[in-house]
Amino acid sequence: MSTAQHRDGGCLCGAVRFSATLEHTAYGICHCKMCQRWAGGIFAAITVPKANLAWQGSEHIARIQSSDWAERGWCTQCGSGLFYRVTRNGPNDGEWEIPVGLFDNSDDLTLEREIFIDRKPNSYTICGHHQTLTEAEVIALYGSTSEGA
Ligand SMILES: [Zn+2]
Ligand SMILES: [Zn+2]
Repeated sequence: MSTAQHRDGGCLCGAVRFSATLEHTAYGICHCKMCQRWAGGIFAAITVPKANLAWQGSEHIARIQSSDWAERGWCTQCGSGLFYRVTRNGPNDGEWEIPVGLFDNSDDLTLEREIFIDRKPNSYTICGHHQTLTEAEVIALYGSTSEGA
């Protein structure tokens, strides 16, 4: 019941911009420690299919292979985190996980689920009704030991 939507976004300084076509408007939050460290807080991101995203200013994108199966990218000019991306061959290979905060308009995006909920700091709770998965549940579903998104 979703329709594809075109959305633009970009980093803090504007050196990197993107155009994305969303297949749905639901996003997820990952509370794993790697996402916490990388985002400096809550990592909320929406999945964009591999072919549905075009970067402008990609010469300003740096990447780190943050695990055996994924990489993360950021703007070299301002440091904004731009994406988490699975690099290991598999069903999610190449998909972009784009931080919700990068979109010019994210008002109507909806929170679908939180993962690694048992790794969330105790000091905050995300309100509303949505799915939550523990680390063990994520591993059972996806086989990843960390760095889910
Ligand atoms: Zn920037
Ligand atoms: Zn994570």
